[in-house]
Amino acid sequence: MKIKSIQTYILRTPLGNERFYSSQCSFPERNSFIVKVETDDGLVGWGEGGQYGPPEPVAAVVKHVLAPKLINQELQNPMKIWEQHYADTRDFGQKGTYIEALSAIDIALWDIYGQMLHQPVHNLIGGPFRKSITAYATGCYYRGEDVLNYKASLPKLAEEARSYVDAGFQILKMKVGLLSIEEDIERVRTIREAIGPDTCLLVDCNHAYNVFTAVKMAKELEKFNVRWLEEPVVPEDRAGYREVRSSTSIAIAGGECEFTRFGFRDLFVGGCVDIAQPDICVSGGFSEWMKIQALASSFGVTVIPHVWGSGIALAAALHVLASIPPSPHTAHPVPLQNEPIVEYDRNPNPLRDELLTTPITLQKGKLPVPHNPGLGIEVNLDAVSKYSSEF
Ligand code: CA
Repeated sequence: MKIKSIQTYILRTPLGNERFYSSQCSFPERNSFIVKVETDDGLVGWGEGGQYGPPEPVAAVVKHVLAPKLINQELQNPMKIWEQHYADTRDFGQKGTYIEALSAIDIALWDIYGQMLHQPVHNLIGGPFRKSITAYATGCYYRGEDVLNYKASLPKLAEEARSYVDAGFQILKMKVGLLSIEEDIERVRTIREAIGPDTCLLVDCNHAYNVFTAVKMAKELEKFNVRWLEEPVVPEDRAGYREVRSSTSIAIAGGECEFTRFGFRDLFVGGCVDIAQPDICVSGGFSEWMKIQALASSFGVTVIPHVWGSGIALAAALHVLASIPPSPHTAHPVPLQNEPIVEYDRNPNPLRDELLTTPITLQKGKLPVPHNPGLGIEVNLDAVSKYSSEF
């Protein structure tokens, strides 16, 4: 079986007045880079690469660097292809765009490989520990007006937080870092009061702080029973991560901007995180996922992937989440404590909601793991053409 074609698509849809903000930037649109790999006997695999960076550079690497080496070549196992292409681009790749491109190709090849072997991907990367994953809602971003008058936006924030609980979520992740500590703590207090004491609250800073601000923030957040603090400092500051982690009882999460086993090795050796968050579409796809997960387990670090992007990214994450052993094992595993949970971004995203013929939707607070061969999804080609241009 040979690889016949590799098509690249940039999907893009403006959000208009639904735009939202993290501590770092606004999101005026949703975009995804996806790739379609076709074999000469008609199998089709889909992959996605990157997260919220510009999709064009990732598309260019696939189109101009990786695809020419793969087209008309015999289909080999995805890990072998990963190793070959990583070696080919090591001298100028290692992190960033090249690894995101490699992630997209790797996910598409595993999709094909699974179809070829009539197995869902999770059966090929270790086998499933569970058929569905408890989902956590990622929401409660900034809406823009909060910067001008955060107090006026608090009722809407409370309403949004409550809507997640009403929808069946038991875990919610909110944003901080755009405002002062005092103002952001008011937002945390508002949300805690809105969701009550029994809903688990996670807080994401998007690396907005230096160490002394992060330590101060963590101390304040301890009063609100926050379970994890995500990206408190910039990803390059390994010593800073360690210092924040040793200062607080809140678990430290990070790694959505990290790449490959080599990057995660440094996070683990540095004692930086309690929870590692590789993004499958960023850190190297399924092939690299298995190494990162193995490394994490040897350091006693819990892995809960970062999930953003389209329905393809979500499906890929669900396969790896199915394959994570309880961490650590207990006779009664509890979500987040021992059982992995899945990030379910609740911001507007037609690419997540419309790209799959059968969208992956919440069922009693959980997302089902796709069980058909490969990624187990069918991509809606009308949605692809609606939102994309072939790059
Ligand atoms: Ca995050």
